[in-house]
Amino acid sequence: MAEKPRFYDATVTKIVSLTPTVKHFVLEYPKEADTRFIAGQFLMVHLEKEGKPHKKAYSIASSPSLPNKIELCIKLVEGGYVSTYFFGLKEGGVLHTSLPYGVFTVREPWEENLVFVATGTGIAPIRSMIQNLYEKNCGKNIWLIFGNRYENEILYQNEWETLARERKNLHFLPTISRPKHWTGEKAYVQEVVKKLFMGRVDNADFYGCGLVPMCQQLKNALLEMNVPKERIHFEQFT
Ligand SMILES: Cc1cc2nc3c(=O)[nH]c(=O)nc-3n(C[C@H](O)[C@H](O)[C@H](O)COP(=O)(O)OP(=O)(O)OC[C@H]3O[C@@H](n4cnc5c(N)ncnc54)[C@H](O)[C@@H]3O)c2cc1C
Repeated sequence: MAEKPRFYDATVTKIVSLTPTVKHFVLEYPKEADTRFIAGQFLMVHLEKEGKPHKKAYSIASSPSLPNKIELCIKLVEGGYVSTYFFGLKEGGVLHTSLPYGVFTVREPWEENLVFVATGTGIAPIRSMIQNLYEKNCGKNIWLIFGNRYENEILYQNEWETLARERKNLHFLPTISRPKHWTGEKAYVQEVVKKLFMGRVDNADFYGCGLVPMCQQLKNALLEMNVPKERIHFEQFT
């Protein structure tokens, strides 16, 4: 049964610009707050809009092991109410939030191949999941296929590259759809998934996160590849 959400005020203790339109936020909760969640889940941010309550979902980008801290990764949407509010926040600001929500979590027991596919800020819940898998000493093959338009938009790039050097079972595959000087993979994420896993989907679980069109295209590709529905897991940013 889904856990009942809990409501807390959090203080924004750190804000880092990852790109001109994406920021990383660290939220700190009071010591007595129960911030337990499962890697991959999201919280709701509660604001007011025109005098009425207004809430929006944001995936948690950090591992559940951080005590009383939660990290978010937020893209500024042009004309967007809540994302613009976030971009106006300063360190020390307070946010009213509720958590946890969602069923986009890693299935256990783990398959031999855990295939994570993200575009843009869709990396947020996947960052939480991968950090948590390593904390649990997961030795399975972890694939991260991360699609972006330009090479300077790869969120947490240093972190992924460092982790891939340290962990031989992490296969970090960034792919860029509108490259300028990029010499790596240039295909869309679903094409990379097809190239790697067509005909060898038996021992793999697939996790996708991003905007609706990408999720739809990836889902179609996985079904075409005869991946059973129970091995396909999605979080769509609507
Ligand atoms: C489960 C879940 C988890 C999510 N996690 C994250 C996350 O980790 N990081 C994150 O940045 N977002 C995330 N989102 C999206 C987030 O909830 C908001 O939809 C997003 O921030 C836009 O809200 P807004 O109030 O700024 O825009 P709104 O005021 O709702 O929208 C303004 C305009 O922008 C359009 N629009 C809305 N969203 C987008 C978009 N993403 N790209 C382009 N155009 C858009 C709308 O159609 C509208 O025309 C998540 C969504 C869901 C459902």
